[in-house]
Amino acid sequence: MHKEIKLTVSGTGFVGLITAGVFADRGFSTMALDVDEKKVAAVNKGETFFFEPHLPDLIKRVVLEKKTLTASTERIKSIQESNVTLICVGTPSKSDGSCDLSYIESAAKDIGQALAQKDGYHLVVAKSTIVPETTRTLIKTIIEKESNKKAGIDFGLCMSPEFLREGQSVHDTIFPDKIVIGQFDEKSGKKLEAIFQHLYREENDEFSGTWETIFGKKVTCPKILRRSIETAECIKYANNSFLATKISFINEFANICERVPGVDIKHIAEAIGLDFRINPKFLQAGAGFGWSCFPKDVNAMITFAKEHNHNPKLLESVMAVNAQQAKRMVQLTEEIVGDLKEKQIAILGLSFKPETDDMRNAPSIIIIDELLSKGANVIAWDPQAIEEAKKENDLGNKITFANSLEEIFDNTDACLLVTEWKQFKKLEAKDFKKMKKPVVIDGRRIYDYKKFRKEGIIYAGIGLGEIIN
Ligand code: NAD
Repeated sequence: MHKEIKLTVSGTGFVGLITAGVFADRGFSTMALDVDEKKVAAVNKGETFFFEPHLPDLIKRVVLEKKTLTASTERIKSIQESNVTLICVGTPSKSDGSCDLSYIESAAKDIGQALAQKDGYHLVVAKSTIVPETTRTLIKTIIEKESNKKAGIDFGLCMSPEFLREGQSVHDTIFPDKIVIGQFDEKSGKKLEAIFQHLYREENDEFSGTWETIFGKKVTCPKILRRSIETAECIKYANNSFLATKISFINEFANICERVPGVDIKHIAEAIGLDFRINPKFLQAGAGFGWSCFPKDVNAMITFAKEHNHNPKLLESVMAVNAQQAKRMVQLTEEIVGDLKEKQIAILGLSFKPETDDMRNAPSIIIIDELLSKGANVIAWDPQAIEEAKKENDLGNKITFANSLEEIFDNTDACLLVTEWKQFKKLEAKDFKKMKKPVVIDGRRIYDYKKFRKEGIIYAGIGLGEIIN
């Protein structure tokens, strides 16, 4: 089947590059499109432009060895030469929290203009996260207007949301929990299902062998759910909103536990996680969630609900708890160190989670802002995200970036563990003892506080009540 399909992926950002890479690895002839010449040039050299495990080898293999992936800024021509286009452009937040659909509009325009001068059936698939009804009212309308062709007759239309996690995105694209296909019509849905079945077919070939060796499990076809277009759009928002809710729930409880002697939120999470109706995932209390997706998608749903005369109280609380959670790290620091003016505070970890250099909405940004507003001097280190962090919120000019992890302890009044990179998990009490006074605020609860305290560390952690035994 992959010989009949020529794929274009519109938007070679995080999702687009990984999606294009995996399809190309399965043998699909794939063209990654972007407006950004630097990204296109990097891909054509077999290089990546952000940090993500397993991606460099994948892109190198499909571009330089298999030659199944190329990239281009010639979007209209490339779409004309393909028969399936996946839309993976960004959908960032506007200042009012609503979803900015301007990149979707421009991608749909490209597709419409390409289809105007193209014969034969073309399948268009929106993978970007878009508010309900966008596929039908915006994408379909623009393509029909620009091409003078009809959805369901001249071109197919689906919405298939992406659920990958940054840091594990290659794994998640090859081993997804589910595939959701929102179909405009039966033919479009059937065609996309066949493409996914081909991608995930069980076969003892090079693709399956490579990934089985890396991840220790066989490639199999996940459950494919064929639903309406609007259902698919809503599933994505419900999925992310629910995960964000779990995090804010456990953080809310962590704040309560800090006020109860002898209670540790980790023990609460462990016990409730054993209830199969709850499960243990996303129950790690901490400094709050970041990422390009949770804050933007929950905010987009809040705005969408309000525009449709519904007051989404639960979702608003999820965001309110999260905003306060990052600041809780600073409160804990003040409770130990006192006035933060002129104090040197070290931030361990900047990216919103480990194994990524993505700084979008990272809690570290709020924490650093709060520390600076209280007159503290901030020094930070991250194994991958320093260059990205320098571009966020003018951090490059506001704080000091350590050249190495060791440098972080010099003259420091408190260390705030913000991102649980494996490099930080290896640290022992003796490492923190290099500080002026060893104060550790553990925002991800990765250290054994009993051991640390025994060895002379002044330790505070999210969700840890006063110890009574
Ligand atoms: P991104 O910002 O990393 O990438 C978007 C890319 O689209 C950029 O490279 C940009 O230059 C390009 N672009 C803009 N207009 C274009 C056009 N007209 N034609 C071609 N390219 C164009 O975004 P991302 O993180 O990859 O997210 C893409 C979508 O996937 C969003 O809707 C996001 O919510 C969703 N999503 C993201 C993740 C994630 O972890 N990043 C996970 C699931 C879903």
